[in-house]
This record gives sequence, structure tokens and C-alpha cells, in this order.
Amino acid sequence: MSKVLDKHLIFRHRDIENIHNIDVYIKDNGYEALKNALNEMKTVDVTNQVKAAGLRGRGGAGFPAGVKWSFIPKDIFPKYVVVNADESEPGTFKDREIMEKNPHLLLEGIALCAYAVGASASYIYGRGEFLSTFRPLQQAIDDAYKHGFLGQNILGSGFSLDIRLHLGAGAYICGEETALLNSLEGLMGQPRNRPPFPAVAGLYAKPTVINNVETLSGVPYIILNGADAYRKYGTDRSPGTKIFSLSGRVNKPGNYELPLGTPLRYLIEECGGGVIDGKRVKGILPSGAASSIMGGDKLDTHLDYESMVEAGSMLGSGSVIVLDETINCVWAAKKNIDFFRHESCGKCSPCREGTHWLKSVYSKIVDGRGTKQDVELLATIIGQMEGNCFCPLGEFVVPGVRTSLGLYMDEYLEMVAGNEEAPQ
Ligand code: SF4
Repeated sequence: MSKVLDKHLIFRHRDIENIHNIDVYIKDNGYEALKNALNEMKTVDVTNQVKAAGLRGRGGAGFPAGVKWSFIPKDIFPKYVVVNADESEPGTFKDREIMEKNPHLLLEGIALCAYAVGASASYIYGRGEFLSTFRPLQQAIDDAYKHGFLGQNILGSGFSLDIRLHLGAGAYICGEETALLNSLEGLMGQPRNRPPFPAVAGLYAKPTVINNVETLSGVPYIILNGADAYRKYGTDRSPGTKIFSLSGRVNKPGNYELPLGTPLRYLIEECGGGVIDGKRVKGILPSGAASSIMGGDKLDTHLDYESMVEAGSMLGSGSVIVLDETINCVWAAKKNIDFFRHESCGKCSPCREGTHWLKSVYSKIVDGRGTKQDVELLATIIGQMEGNCFCPLGEFVVPGVRTSLGLYMDEYLEMVAGNEEAPQ
């Protein structure tokens, strides 16, 4: 199959050397979208252009970005733009590459969003462990101030914006937007009740747009080239490109920017160089630990929001983890549960207790002490969690276990075969 993308929209650093440097970025039309918006566009026109392009949130939920921006009330001040850079879904490492290699694209996207919604302050919330990522990002912020793209009266337009980088302590739950806001305010990183939604009462109870790094990095291209140019990539309902973090049992793991709608097979076989030692694909986690597992027979599924749901899973943040026939899928499911158990914030009992018991039962099975009753117990536990967790983190546990049981029951039964069942 031929190359599906002739040039990168987001990963421009792969086409242009040293684009992290502000002078190089400016030479490649960098900050032109911001200049155009400030000089020639009303704030509502920026939002409408993003709406028309159909840009959807790349953090996982896929909610249309322009629609989200339009929820921000016009008459309440101050307003904030918060960037969710707390990339922590297992197998996701795309935002990190954007921030390290093409940070000005993100900063320009933030400035455009802030201009559109009328915000004069923005916070980038990142993982404290990723210092190697945030040092160059802070440098880029400093350079943008020096060149007049941030700060007071940007380019003489009257629009002002400050961007601050805030590093969390590294908790998966802080990728959930209301837990992120709590953490940013210095509170415990646990989710808030909704409503009110952040668009109305977010950071410090003021209107707040929260977008993911990749989402905002898609905005400069749209403003500079127009919605139609953006819609030339992807599908009608999932326009544009998306960065997929490919990992697991493939020859060339890494980040790949592809038009939405590209077949999964292309990502794994052409970009990833196929499965190690030519083994058979046994399963795919298309959205990290939070996904329903897809069987190896689903390779012709297209990577867009709609096709992935039709195939019984979801596109999510695009962290594609490949399992091959050398992987024990019960062990793989336990690894996911270990993660969720560790990251459960403990606020609600279905998740706090459910992940505890799932870990306990999985450990018993993987250690060779499990019985058929234990396998049935896994299904009972996720049945009690489903629909009862306070936030999506707990709900994310359910599809992985359910599809693992559905696809690989023979492996579960093999692992408990011969073990005596406990008396009822
Ligand atoms: Fe915390 Fe889990 Fe409940 Fe979410 S579902 S609030 S992570 S305990």
C-alpha cells in the first residue's frame, strides 16, 4: 500500500528539521494562523471555522472541539483555557512528541482557542515525571513571549494571553478533566460532580475550555488553510488526521500520523512493519487499557470514530497495542487490572472495591490457584461495576475484562483446569 499522507499536519518536525526552534517555526508559516485570526477574524469566526472543520477531541472522547468552545458563556469573566497534557493512558505517547518536537504548534493552537473564547490565561497541565518534555516546552513558551506571540497586547491586536505550565504528580485520574481542575487548584485529584460542566464552572468556578494537546495542535492548520482543506483528510464524520501510538508486538513501534479512516492493517503492517517474527495478531487494544479488545480478525477495521464503535471498540486516544500469539491474554488482562487498581482514586466504592477484587481474583488465576468459579466471579464483579462508577476511569475497566473473557475463555479455562472448586 502506498504512503497515505504526503505531509504531516501535526508532526511537522518529521518534515522540517528543528521546527521546535521559533525561528524555524516562523519560517514555515508558524504563527501566521494567529496573525490572520487577530487581524482578520472575529472570535466567533475562529470557533465557526473549527466547527466547520469537524475537529474532534483527540484525548479520547472525540467531542467536537468547536462545539465545546461555543458552550463558553460570553458574559462571565475571567475565562480559562486548560490544556490536558497529562498523557497517561497506557500505550499513549503522542502528546509528548508534539510538546518536545513541535511545541509552538501547540502554543499557537492555545492562543487561537483563547482568542476564540475570550480567555486571557491558559494552563498546561502535564505529568511531573516528564521533565524532559516540559523543559523544551517552557523554553518555547519563553521564546513565544520574547517574540510577542504571548503576553500583553499580542501583535498590537489588543488581545492578551499568559500561558503557565503546571506539573502534576503523575496520576491517571488527573487526565479526567474535573480531577485535573481540582489538582490545578491544589486540591486532591479526584473527579467533581457534573453538572456544572467546566464550560460553565471550571477552573476557580469560571468558564473553562479543556482540550487535549493534539486537539489544540490541529487548530493552526485549520485557521491557516480553512475547514475544507482540513476535511480533505479523513472521513466525512471523522475529518482530519490523527496520531496513533503503536506498541506491543510489532517490529516498528512508534507514533504515526494518518488520515482518520485508514485501515488498522495499514498501521500495523505498513507503518509498524508487521508483527514480530511474522506471528499472528491475536488481539488489539485500540485505545490502551481502556478499550474493548478487538480480535485479530478485525484488521480491516478503519481507524475512525464511527468504524471503531461499529467494530465493538473505540478510537479513544489512539494508543494501539498489538497482542500476538505468544501473549497469554489472561496475563495481559491482569496487567491492565493492576494498572487500574493502582490508579483508582478511591472516591467511589464500585471502582475502589471492584478493582481490588478484580486484581485479587486475576492474581489467583495467573498464579495457578484459580478455579472455574473465579473466572465466573470476574464477570460478576464487572457486572457490579458497570454503570455504577463515579467517573469514566472505573467504567473503563469493564470492556477490557468483558472482551477478554469473550475472546479468550479457552485460555482462562486452561489456566484453572484441574483446580478444585471451593465448596458453595
Ligand atoms: Fe475514583 Fe474510580 Fe470512582 Fe473514578 S470511578 S471516582 S477513579 S474511585
